Amino acid sequence: MMISDAMNKALNGQIANELSASMSYRQMAFDYDVMGLKVFATKFQGQADEEHDHAMRIAKYILDSGGKVELAALEKPPCGQKSAQAMVEAALASEVKVSKQIYGLMDQAESEKDHSTRSFLKWFIDEQVEEVSTMSDLLQLVKMAGESNLVLVEQRLHEVMVTETPDA
Ligand code: MG
Repeated sequence: MMISDAMNKALNGQIANELSASMSYRQMAFDYDVMGLKVFATKFQGQADEEHDHAMRIAKYILDSGGKVELAALEKPPCGQKSAQAMVEAALASEVKVSKQIYGLMDQAESEKDHSTRSFLKWFIDEQVEEVSTMSDLLQLVKMAGESNLVLVEQRLHEVMVTETPDA
């Protein structure tokens, strides 16, 4: 096995964290849909898919390293949050939290002199910079517009999403 038992366990913990983030975003997407904010809903479904991909990426790394993947029970995500802004704030807080979790894993990999896991985690550290930045931008936009102008934010968000994924 290329990774220690402790690292295997910590990575399994991160799979649970990513799946938990995925489920929270999935719930937010459904809540946005109920609010009539369809572009927000699409954006957050996409975020949920991304977090799921992160979990799968970690699972593949564990298996490639000769370890074992063990899934955990997930907590029920918050449902029916009070405003669009509250959900973007929660999303930003979640991304900051995930960044800290990744830093914790990197600290562990460094203390174990586990170079392969360090190299693997580098992608996640860069990814989190993007995720935090995207949610900060969205929060700024939502705050600037106010709840009554969220349709305009939807328009802007749609433009950004089309630019990011030209084939979508
Ligand atoms: Mg993630």
